[in-house]
Amino acid sequence: MKAQRRSPKEPVISALGGGHWKAARDGRLALQRCDACGQWVHYPSAVCDRCMSTELSWQDTAGRGTVESFSTVYRGFAAEFEQDLPYTVALVRLDEGVNLLTWLVGIEPDGAEIGMRVEVEFERISHEITLHRFHPAETGP
Ligand SMILES: [Zn+2]
Repeated sequence: MKAQRRSPKEPVISALGGGHWKAARDGRLALQRCDACGQWVHYPSAVCDRCMSTELSWQDTAGRGTVESFSTVYRGFAAEFEQDLPYTVALVRLDEGVNLLTWLVGIEPDGAEIGMRVEVEFERISHEITLHRFHPAETGP
């Protein structure tokens, strides 16, 4: 049987990343955290990158952070993203200290700023996949 082509908009759920996607479907931004030393671990891993413990669990973050970097895309490079143009890809540093690659929403194309406070929202794109997005935070830190 021929494998069905998957849209690049739909990330593949890896064996290690299931906890993140399950939480996202419930409207929570969860990342792995080491039960031994408390280190947040992202991307999903079988071991803590600080203490090498294999005792990791999924914990909810506060879903708030600060824009570290961003790039606004005006020209389409894949048909699946044409309808989203222009869109802004950002590296958000969560208050938990983890950098997360995401999209900014709820802003004008030239409205992103480094240091901008943002908070998570979710966009369900299929039965399995709900993506995290970030919009400007309503109030200060
Ligand atoms: Zn650890």
